[in-house]
Amino acid sequence: MQHSNNLSPSNVTELTRRQFLMTTAALCAQGVIRPFAIYASSDSLPGIRSLPLADLQKYFHNPNAHLAAYEYFTAGRGLGSAELIGGPVSVSVGQLVPEWKLRYRATPEGIRPGGYLRIWLPNGGSLPVLGSGEVPSSVSVSAKGGQPVTTIEAVAFSKQYGIEFKSGQRVVRVAFPDGLAPGGKVTLTWKDVKVGDLAPRWADNRLPFRVYADHDADGFDEEIAASPSVAVHSGPADRLLMRCASTAVVGEKTRVTVAVLDKFDNPASGYTETVEFGLDEGTGDGICLPKPLAFAGVEHACAETAVVFTKPGIYWMRILSGPLSASSNPVEVFAKAPAERLYWGDIHFHTDYSADARAGANSTTDYAGAYQIGRHRYGLDFMAATDHHSLEQGNYDSEDWKMMQQITNEANDPGRFATFVAMELSCPKGDQNIYFSGNSAPFLDHTAGTDERKKDWAALEGFDCFAPPHHFCQDMRPWDWSVFNASLQPVCEVFSNHGRAEYSGNKPDYCGHEVATLPGHTWTEQLAKDKRLGVLASSDDHTGRPGCCGLTGVWAPALTREDIFRSIKNRRCYASTDSRTILHFSVNGHLMGESFNAHVSPVVRIRTASPTLIREIAIVKNGQTVYRVEPKSRFSEWDWTDPDFHEDAYYYIRLSLAPNPDCTNRSMFANREEFVWSSPVWVHHLGLGKI
Ligand SMILES: [Zn+2]
Repeated sequence: MQHSNNLSPSNVTELTRRQFLMTTAALCAQGVIRPFAIYASSDSLPGIRSLPLADLQKYFHNPNAHLAAYEYFTAGRGLGSAELIGGPVSVSVGQLVPEWKLRYRATPEGIRPGGYLRIWLPNGGSLPVLGSGEVPSSVSVSAKGGQPVTTIEAVAFSKQYGIEFKSGQRVVRVAFPDGLAPGGKVTLTWKDVKVGDLAPRWADNRLPFRVYADHDADGFDEEIAASPSVAVHSGPADRLLMRCASTAVVGEKTRVTVAVLDKFDNPASGYTETVEFGLDEGTGDGICLPKPLAFAGVEHACAETAVVFTKPGIYWMRILSGPLSASSNPVEVFAKAPAERLYWGDIHFHTDYSADARAGANSTTDYAGAYQIGRHRYGLDFMAATDHHSLEQGNYDSEDWKMMQQITNEANDPGRFATFVAMELSCPKGDQNIYFSGNSAPFLDHTAGTDERKKDWAALEGFDCFAPPHHFCQDMRPWDWSVFNASLQPVCEVFSNHGRAEYSGNKPDYCGHEVATLPGHTWTEQLAKDKRLGVLASSDDHTGRPGCCGLTGVWAPALTREDIFRSIKNRRCYASTDSRTILHFSVNGHLMGESFNAHVSPVVRIRTASPTLIREIAIVKNGQTVYRVEPKSRFSEWDWTDPDFHEDAYYYIRLSLAPNPDCTNRSMFANREEFVWSSPVWVHHLGLGKI
């Protein structure tokens, strides 16, 4: 700890908050410590804001928040310095760096006996093990000026949900039982480290080597003033990605987003070519194609343009640039503005504010950057970041929450891009996300206890929100469906990177969990219990790629927060693994999500267009597939009359699609069948006597 003037860790603990604030303010005025922001809105609130991205362990089990604040104020000065020596100043994703060397230099005071260093090696590389250098990814430490003892620690950031959550063994602890001499040097060598293949941050993608020091042996370490880091660059262009607005009107400018990606689906580096537009096979000629897009000087390897259609119909476009080409999703063009248009979004993903994303992911992204990635790289229409809402689990505090809401509100751009204030609440009885229609939402005192759901729901009373469960039939915290709130839960998340949740025995696919469809917990089993659940799909991404899988299609009057929110609440939405398939589905003219009464056989109507061949369209009635069509084309339109209507029924549509070479996320979808699920229509059977 830095003992500056009359402020030290030992006396900080004895100071009242007010005294501490006064002392730090005085030191600040003297220039001894940095200027700081203090949030002291009332005496009952903590007066000091600690930094959430500071040392995780300290923050998570932080009985000494004021010490974290002290760290914030002193900004790691007086703790020594560190640099990477002899290695590259930047790396490409996927590049193997055979050896990293990090050198720490102590201050003129050295490190007292019993002090230590903690060095957090970057996520994405292979896990370090202690060794002499012969074993892969070995770590060895040498010191001049003190004999160190080295161990490796997992990043155990909290006891979540009764499970000790640990990320990899990434922290090397170097202890100095006899201290380190003034100015002493410590060199850490990390061999055979493979840099990860993700460089997804919107800006400033770096591999950090975080160095923390306890130089006065009080058992409390702080990050040094400038931990070293190395820039990470994406690779060269390997593919193109084009996404268009799904609904268009003749004569209107229609949005087209083009991104250039490297072989790991990161935004490509150094692309200066031009992308030309064309029509895909079988598409009509009623189109004014955009001018070629020049990528020289374009930031983030993505750009937006517009296309204008002159005739109604379904269109697929194509882009070409040298050897690269890609097809778009289909665009449905109307002669006049339709009552509702189709919009696509990902409303479940995590950023730097989620502890598990920070500690466990290859790379994550900052909160504002997540919206940029989804909107500009993937051409999404709406988004909601859902960081784990619990300070106890090490995520963010109420002050952060204010800022997160502000960023979400600023990213909301009515008519062009919609966002929701949202959060994820995880409990032993299941995980759910909460979406709010308004600009602000409460910071809940959420602690992941078994009765937490009741408490959370009580706290949400009076707020216009909905709370779909997710990965609800998975072995990791399956949703306890004995508790159900129809108004809070109009929809459920039937697909994410955790896999599919349609029916019992559904192969999980697309996920790393062995059991993704626990019997009794799946979507159709809940429909059978008369729960009126529509469907969503989301990514639940923890790697800084919101929108890379799991999309929700929403039919809404306009692209505004209010309209999208209302449509999802009304189940006017459907789920897609990734493909932006247009799906019109109605029963007797009632649209997906609706209920109605009938006494004669219902007529199901389908009109659909997909980026790839539609292998099968199945009508599912009360959990059974009752009719199938195999169109073997990208477009299909037909009616079907239920020949066997004798009781209440729900109907939904499941599409199976051929793999899409232009999928968003090749590591998940390359050569994989894709799916689309509609929300159901519920039909109440009127007996003859009731007509
Ligand atoms: Zn999540």
